[in-house]
Amino acid sequence: MRIVLLGAPGVGKGTQARVIAEAHRIPAVATGDILRAAMRDETPLGKQAKEFVKRGDLVPDDIVIGVVAERLAQPDAANGFLLDGFPRTIAQAEALATILAERDQALDAVVAIEVPDEVIVRRLAGRLTCPECGGVYGPDEGLQEGGACPRCSASLTVRPDDKPDAVRNRLAVYRESTEPLVNYYCERGLLKTVDGDRTRDEVAKAIEAVLA
Ligand code: AMP
Repeated sequence: MRIVLLGAPGVGKGTQARVIAEAHRIPAVATGDILRAAMRDETPLGKQAKEFVKRGDLVPDDIVIGVVAERLAQPDAANGFLLDGFPRTIAQAEALATILAERDQALDAVVAIEVPDEVIVRRLAGRLTCPECGGVYGPDEGLQEGGACPRCSASLTVRPDDKPDAVRNRLAVYRESTEPLVNYYCERGLLKTVDGDRTRDEVAKAIEAVLA
């Protein structure tokens, strides 16, 4: 299956991406994770992306499209993948369609996870992330900044772009640049919408139901 997960920051894309990818035995490709790893390792890509990511702005299309084209050319993505955080602009969506058409492939589904803005702001404000395994933990999970990740024991951190100013900017950027993709994929008959304001397991079940 070739799936795109769409949704504002904080709707639970990363968490659900892992669940779906595991169930369908396909790689989850998260552009945010790729960019953060590049920033941590101070690679040329990381240096190019750093200022955009810190502010909560989008990294320019040509850079991100190059990253995704390279990742999807890896053997493990030959028979399917789940994209989390890409595409984020119409130009990226069109580039993705071209990359797939060149391989005689197409997307099977685009799943849009919807959550009200006030819930998103609350979730992001208390969110902890594991810089090693990418685990994401909500404010009600009893964990603390600097505490151990329950999955890999690395030290949990608050993502710099989860700070209030950057969160506000990310939401504004989402509305302006990424939300138009909902219509874009709806017009192409690919869009499935799921209510994300429920427990993790309930959302996972709802996603499985629309993919079945
Ligand atoms: P995420 O982990 O998906 O919230 O992404 C974190 C940050 O990485 C975003 O706020 C952007 O700065 C950058 N980023 C991730 N994916 C993309 C993309 N498809 N296009 C542009 N920038 C991206």
